[in-house]
Amino acid sequence: MSGLKQTIIRGGLESLFFTGAHLALKPLVGGIGAILTLHHVREPRPDRFQPNRILEVTPRFLSRVVKMLDRSGIDVISLDEMHRRMTARDFGRRFVCLTFDDGYRDNLEYAYPILREAGFPFAVYVPTGFPDRLGELWWLALEAVIAKRERIGLVIDGENRSFDCATVAEKRELYDELYWWLRARESEAELRAIVRDLAARYQVDIAAFCKDLCMGWQEIALLARDPLVTIGAHTVNHLALAKLPEKAVRAEMDLSRTVIESALGTRPAHLSYPYGDAGSAGPREFAIAAALGFKTAVTTRPGVLFRSHARHLTALPRISLNGEYQQLRYVRVLLSGSATAMWNGFRRAQAA
Ligand SMILES: [Zn+2]
Repeated sequence: MSGLKQTIIRGGLESLFFTGAHLALKPLVGGIGAILTLHHVREPRPDRFQPNRILEVTPRFLSRVVKMLDRSGIDVISLDEMHRRMTARDFGRRFVCLTFDDGYRDNLEYAYPILREAGFPFAVYVPTGFPDRLGELWWLALEAVIAKRERIGLVIDGENRSFDCATVAEKRELYDELYWWLRARESEAELRAIVRDLAARYQVDIAAFCKDLCMGWQEIALLARDPLVTIGAHTVNHLALAKLPEKAVRAEMDLSRTVIESALGTRPAHLSYPYGDAGSAGPREFAIAAALGFKTAVTTRPGVLFRSHARHLTALPRISLNGEYQQLRYVRVLLSGSATAMWNGFRRAQAA
């Protein structure tokens, strides 16, 4: 995300908080609860070029969020309990679900002790390729290539191009440009091939990120045996499903569920779509997840939950705890629903 965009978002969150508008809007847009998205929970690193920092919060910040939730009187509930409340139309108490995508090892190391102490249930959505050590965390490989070089070369649309990335500002700009250019490729196979080629050319070991950062099956099993923890599916290969043929989408969802069941003995009932934005999961994916019998499935479309989401249980929005905005006042504004209501033009359920 560009610095300017971050400043505008931060400004919007600040003004919603300091004007008290989030309190005024809450009865209108606060809905019945929210699902929070987290990725990494770990100690901050000093590097100035960290384009993926949006995907991590510190253990200290998570502790503060947990304390705030504890004091607020909001119920922190499991995905099964959320599903029960939605289908039984039991909307008497506001609730929050905590979800972690990708199965990072720091979830076990830092997040789990904090949540266990609070007695808060949470879910971890695991792409089975990650503990199977087949995962390609290509966004980190791209970061590593740009971090270590002052200039990189890349074939774009058949043309050999080269990019300067000597300064932190240039690195940030180039990362943004290449990230979104890659995400716009017609197939994810093309995206992966380009990053594999880049990584090989600049001696970045793309397989190492998965091994170093993601839990193996034994670690996932450690978490899974705690009744507070729900292990959810996050497909096999972490691909943008909307770009795949229908058969492959079904296989990605169904096979991941079977692999998790055979590794842990429990069949996942909940799914998170990889990337989760509108370009990666749409009505076709929502219908397939429902047809396969998943109780709920979550996107990364921003929003709180409304009663009407009971009819769209495989197209649920979430609120991301973004590492660039680690302030409790932002979380309060986000949970009030006012920020996401503005982003969504005050529309509620979006299943299209
Ligand atoms: Zn993911």
